[in-house]
Amino acid sequence: MELMEDVVIVGAGIAGLATAVALNRVGVRALVLEKSKGLRSTGTALTLSPNAWLALDALGVSHKHIPLYTPSIKGYVTNVSTGEVQEVLYPRQGIRTLHRKVLLEALAEELEDGTTIKSKVLMGCDGVHSVVARWLGLTELVHSGRSAVRGLAVFPQGHGFKQVRFFLDESNKAGFAPLNDRELSWFFVSQGEKVTGEAEKMQRDVLEKCTEKFPSEYLDVVRHADLSSLSWAPLMFRPPWGIIFGKLSKGNVTVAGDAMHPMTPDLGNGGGASLEDAVVLGRHIGNSIINNGGLIVPGDMAKTMDDYVKERRWRAAMLVTASYLSGRMQQGDKWWINFLRDRALYKYFFGWLSRLVFVYDCGRLPAISFGAMDLSSKKD
Ligand SMILES: Cc1cc2nc3c(=O)[nH]c(=O)nc-3n(C[C@H](O)[C@H](O)[C@H](O)COP(=O)(O)OP(=O)(O)OC[C@H]3O[C@@H](n4cnc5c(N)ncnc54)[C@H](O)[C@@H]3O)c2cc1C
Repeated sequence: MELMEDVVIVGAGIAGLATAVALNRVGVRALVLEKSKGLRSTGTALTLSPNAWLALDALGVSHKHIPLYTPSIKGYVTNVSTGEVQEVLYPRQGIRTLHRKVLLEALAEELEDGTTIKSKVLMGCDGVHSVVARWLGLTELVHSGRSAVRGLAVFPQGHGFKQVRFFLDESNKAGFAPLNDRELSWFFVSQGEKVTGEAEKMQRDVLEKCTEKFPSEYLDVVRHADLSSLSWAPLMFRPPWGIIFGKLSKGNVTVAGDAMHPMTPDLGNGGGASLEDAVVLGRHIGNSIINNGGLIVPGDMAKTMDDYVKERRWRAAMLVTASYLSGRMQQGDKWWINFLRDRALYKYFFGWLSRLVFVYDCGRLPAISFGAMDLSSKKD
């Protein structure tokens, strides 16, 4: 029997693997092309909010993670210049910080019997510097003027932190979130400068920038960094109008994840949005298969891609905008921005913003009865 791959996915990051799992669930095999050797888990850890957990649930993999990671339902933001501490409340389901590798492996495990051959759909899940996005002619990325160092901190005897903590001064933002009793994910976002080089140098640079004002508990976390986990990234985004007016699909080709909507990490939702993309795309392709008696009909795929793009465009543009504005407010370079941040952002604005971003259900995948359908692909 000849097997055919109907879908080729470029990139085995969160978006690529999750999309392949979503398609697998609706009976479509996808060939995932990845340029790195093995799974690339740069960034080490990431925080997922309820919208992302609902997407993982729809993909049928949330049960693999939920027992491992405790949710945080609140965090604390310290203005290190004034010492003022504000509470940040997350939606009642909480947010969880998890190992990126664990997420990627759980998705990859679902794909073990993938087999390939020919493609009728091309999905660009190739990240922030996507060649597929460039081919579609999407607006170039913009540098937010900030960059981030992030890594894991390991405390073999336990760290004792239960909540997410953020620290802000006039121009820098730092923080950490517990993954479990022994590990914390931490970050340091600075304006402009590039913090590159060897891991030791990155760690030293962060410590030097922080020593004057940042509390000793944060410095202690950075000193406990697992150096192999350290990475640096310039914070890039695609302007929202490039998403609203851009050609996000052309015929049978489209994009998902950072390839579509790279955003600054100020609301920790790039990964979550990638999982949402995967479920929505899986649903549209699944519905097309159901409507076509179990077949992937190439002629129907352009419309299917179009429907997926219509559903995602505004949410993606909103996420990019909300993340950017949240970052501008948190790391303002003007006195009045910092004034608003300290007086209004966390007290009034953050709750509203987090409901808009975190409390979102991307829906379920269609239930397809494989027994009743011929899922072999129709040839052109
Ligand atoms: C500092 C920072 C902190 C963040 N924190 C969070 C967080 O807490 N929560 C959250 O949800 N998100 C967070 N994000 C965002 C999140 O990391 C991304 O949104 C997410 O990784 C996007 O997944 P992706 O699969 O689209 O892209 P990627 O993870 O970049 O994966 C793309 C894959 O495509 C491969 N690839 C690229 N080009 C090609 C090619 N030509 N051929 C084949 N393969 C190719 C790459 O090797 C890679 O494996 C953060 C981002 C940054 C920078």
